[in-house]
Amino acid sequence: MALLSPCTRRHVLRAACAAIAVAPITAVSAQRAGTPARPNIIYIMTDDHAAHAISAYGSKVNRTPHLDRLAREGARLDAVFATNSICTPSRAVILTGKYSHLNGVTVFNRFNGDQQTVPKLLQAGGYYTAIVGKWHLGSDPQGFDHWEIFPGQGAYFNPIMYTAAAETTYTGRYATDVITDRALDVLRARPRGKPFFLMVHHKAPHRPWEPDSAHAHDFAGMRFAEPVTFWDRYDTRTDALRENRQRVATDLTNRDLKIVPPVGLTGTALTQWRAQVPDSAVVTTDGRTEVLRGEALVRWKYQRYMQDYLATVQSVDDNVGRLLAYLDSTGLARNTLVIYSSDQGFFLGDHGLFDKRFMYEESIRMPFLARWPAQIKPGTVNGAMGLNLDFAETFLDAAGLRAPNDMQGRSLLPLLRGRTPADWRTSMYYRYYHDPGDHDTRRHLGVRTTTHKLIHFWQKDQWELFDLVHDPQELHNLYGQPGMARITAELKAELARLKAYYGDTDQLANDALPNGVDGTVARLRGK
Ligand code: CA
Repeated sequence: MALLSPCTRRHVLRAACAAIAVAPITAVSAQRAGTPARPNIIYIMTDDHAAHAISAYGSKVNRTPHLDRLAREGARLDAVFATNSICTPSRAVILTGKYSHLNGVTVFNRFNGDQQTVPKLLQAGGYYTAIVGKWHLGSDPQGFDHWEIFPGQGAYFNPIMYTAAAETTYTGRYATDVITDRALDVLRARPRGKPFFLMVHHKAPHRPWEPDSAHAHDFAGMRFAEPVTFWDRYDTRTDALRENRQRVATDLTNRDLKIVPPVGLTGTALTQWRAQVPDSAVVTTDGRTEVLRGEALVRWKYQRYMQDYLATVQSVDDNVGRLLAYLDSTGLARNTLVIYSSDQGFFLGDHGLFDKRFMYEESIRMPFLARWPAQIKPGTVNGAMGLNLDFAETFLDAAGLRAPNDMQGRSLLPLLRGRTPADWRTSMYYRYYHDPGDHDTRRHLGVRTTTHKLIHFWQKDQWELFDLVHDPQELHNLYGQPGMARITAELKAELARLKAYYGDTDQLANDALPNGVDGTVARLRGK
């Protein structure tokens, strides 16, 4: 697959280079005009944090007081979606403001860092730019005055972090705490003559959901109600759900479930054992030991999964609180835009699944909380449709910088200010490519409107149509059913329109795509 390279064949990138050149002039002009000081921007992003595991979004399973504070003192967007619901591609969309087929990262392939990105534009526009935490784009970060990232996925415990010049192992430390420590150090050491743009990218709550000791037992005594779709039999749906391998029942491993390995197992044998899916579990409750199998085992797996997932979220919440406390204590809070999001959503047992990838609601819905006391009214809630595609232009808009014409999103600031433009989008385009991949989630594309969703698993030529108003849990595939011809035709037309509008073709759609390019930084390439 050809990656984009700057200022070469494609029109979009000629425009990109021009935009970088003019950005500082725009910024200087704004400052000379006596406009208010430009805001600082902190973008906090977790990995796989579902909105329905945040109490500000009505979580029934946990409480997140510091995240809730962002919603209470700022805005909560209720309909922000990922355009390709998987880690590395979503990160590339956020950095570039372009769909996967244009930014070159459809799966876990290496990001071409020479292309236009929002940190480069902010840096050229007078911002001090920094990123701390998970990067996972297979190439060195560009456009940052300071970067400090994990190799690959990173580790929950004893994390290693790379800068351009050094490698540090944080022995005995927990990743979520380390990332925040380093983010605070970056803020303390920043140059004072310019606003800053800081990306704080957590590993949590990504698989294998390893909590720290402070929260490891928070949920141990709780029993979570299974989602109403937990035992979904996938009736009426395409083959895709039955073929996928991200099911709580059949795909969580010994490692995921923290089952203690047999005594004496080491090396490769231990690694293989950890990757196996258990067909039973020995559980002791109130002094009584029993062996779980079948349905009882599946129910137990769900509880174990949720206990650890949510415990890692609690550490995130604590650490968001630490960042907010710093802003309070330094007087920075009023003119700092703090955004909290995740690279996509996540299934919390919904449809019997963990993970993401599918275009179903729990997977594509991203939490989006934003506080900027100088600009955003407390308690703002907006249900207009936003995309990860919009984040780059939102940052630029907040900074008073004009977004390049080749970015494909739209600033979310009007939504955050409580004023949805009359011509705001009412449909979104989605495309997922990672098949064959880790979870056998079939390639698909689709359109979501405010009332319906149409999904096409194009390599199987199978379709799903959902009425989101009357079937918000997406249990009843209406495709091909009586009375559905008109809405189906309308959605197919809208899907074709969006595909053309965003410049997508089927050029990449059926390529054999790389899986698991995980180099991350130049320093790693020599190893
Ligand atoms: Ca992710």
